[in-house]
Amino acid sequence: MVEDEENLAESLRRGLSADGHIVDVAHDGHRGLDLALAGGPYDVVLLDLMLPGPGGHAICTRMRAHGDTTPVLMLTAKDGDHDVAEGLDAGADDYLTKPFSFVVLAARIRALARRAGAGDDGGGPLQAGDLVLDPRGRRCRRGGRDIELTARELGVLACLMQQPGRAVAKQDILDEVWDPPQAVDPNIVEVYVSSLRKKIDAPFGRRSILTVHGTGYRMAPDGG
Ligand code: CA
Repeated sequence: MVEDEENLAESLRRGLSADGHIVDVAHDGHRGLDLALAGGPYDVVLLDLMLPGPGGHAICTRMRAHGDTTPVLMLTAKDGDHDVAEGLDAGADDYLTKPFSFVVLAARIRALARRAGAGDDGGGPLQAGDLVLDPRGRRCRRGGRDIELTARELGVLACLMQQPGRAVAKQDILDEVWDPPQAVDPNIVEVYVSSLRKKIDAPFGRRSILTVHGTGYRMAPDGG
C-alpha cells in the first residue's frame, strides 16, 4: 500500500491485517516505488494517485515497464473520467475513488487477487510429506486435519516450505514476512516458529521445523 495520508494508511492496514493480509506500507512515492519494484512479490498493490515524490501513475508505469504484472488498484481523490482513463492507461487494473468504504476495498482486493491467482502457478500449494500449505487459500492441513494459522505464522511457514531442506536465516524470514519499515528484532521469528511447532508438529508427534544453530531454520522435506 502506497498512501501518504498516514491515518488512512494505518486504518486500512489494520483492517486488511484483520482480514488475514500481510501489508507493507509506504508513505511516499520513492519508498513506494522501491517496494513495488523490489519488496514483493505482492498479490496486489494499492496505489494512491497523489503522493510526495513519484505519484501513483508514475509508479504503475514503472512497474509495467519492468514487466511486473502484479494487479494494481489505484486510489484517487479525484473522480473525473479523465483521471480514471489516465490510471488505466498507466496499467492499473482497477480504481477506487475516495472516500470509499472498507468493505468495497476489501472486495476489490479479493477480486484482483483471485483474478491474478487464476493463471498463476507460483502460488500453488506447498507440500512437505503430509503437511500441506496453500498460501493463497490460506489453508494448512496435516494428516487430513485443518490447522488454523495466523497470517504471520502462515507467512513464516510458507517461507520455510518454499525452500525445503535449506537453512533459512531469521533475517531472511523477517525480510520476507514483516513490514520492511518496522525495525523488528530477528528473534521475533523464534516466537512464531515456537507457536507453529505447537500447531503443526507437537500434536502429530513430528519435527518438521528444524533449528539450524547460529543461522535460523530448515524445513524437513519429508515433513519431519
Ligand atoms: Ca495522497
